[in-house]
Amino acid sequence: DLEHPLENTVYEELTPFLEAMDRQNKEKEAVANMRKEFSANVSHELKTPLTSISGYAEIMKNGMVRPADIPVFSERIYKEARRLITLVEDIIKLSKLDEESVELEKEEVDLYDLTRETISRLAPQALQKNIRMEISGEPVIYVGIRQILDEMIYNVCENAIKYNNDGGRVSVWVGDTLEGPKVSVRDTGIGIPREHHERIFERFYRVDKSHSKERGGTGLGLSIVKHGALLHGAKVSVDSEPGRGTRIEMQFPRKEKNLPETAGNETDR
Ligand code: ADP
Repeated sequence: DLEHPLENTVYEELTPFLEAMDRQNKEKEAVANMRKEFSANVSHELKTPLTSISGYAEIMKNGMVRPADIPVFSERIYKEARRLITLVEDIIKLSKLDEESVELEKEEVDLYDLTRETISRLAPQALQKNIRMEISGEPVIYVGIRQILDEMIYNVCENAIKYNNDGGRVSVWVGDTLEGPKVSVRDTGIGIPREHHERIFERFYRVDKSHSKERGGTGLGLSIVKHGALLHGAKVSVDSEPGRGTRIEMQFPRKEKNLPETAGNETDR
């Protein structure tokens, strides 16, 4: 009986392919689900501030606000509008990253310089909470997409201020390591409970929704960081304990151009 063994062989040979197809389908399904969830989240996040804005404006339009309260209502409208602008900007950044940003040119960037610039842009926010920001380390050249590297560093440093206590500290270290260039941001803030460490990189995920919103958060900052890291082959790690603070590290890979010209190094050519 020849047919049986042959069928078995064919089946055995096909099994890995069938399994791979099954896996691929499941991955496609997961991506489709993520997209659906993302659109649902976006609609919700856009609708909430718009509803408040139109509500406050309508009350004012109908003359139902005492003149003395007009500044309060205008302030609320202004705040919600600002939130919307930040949200739309973040959504646009994320969708650009989804397109893989192939158009953006890679260039030599001194991560130390870039981080110093970023920190200076955040000075007003730090000052408001009386937070001391310090940078240490050394210049380190990395070949990457400047604009995206800037967004990554900005978002992590901004969080270190946003989720810090008044009078707290933010310490940033930039330099080279055996694995490659690294940017490490440590804060003395509220910290993140263990069970949230993985999830904070998801779109719209916040540990404490009202807290984050109150501080102008969109819930997209760290997913922009994660996508930027993916694009650069970098790894992002979290080390945090509630009440003690947080350390977020961005470890960039060692690339050809970042390596000294020595023979026998592990560059992929
Ligand atoms: P958001 O816009 O809400 O800050 P992110 O994506 O930047 O969104 O961060 C997701 C969540 O992770 C935040 O809502 C906050 O709960 C938590 N988080 C991020 N960074 C820190 C930090 N340095 N300290 C404490 N919590 C943080």
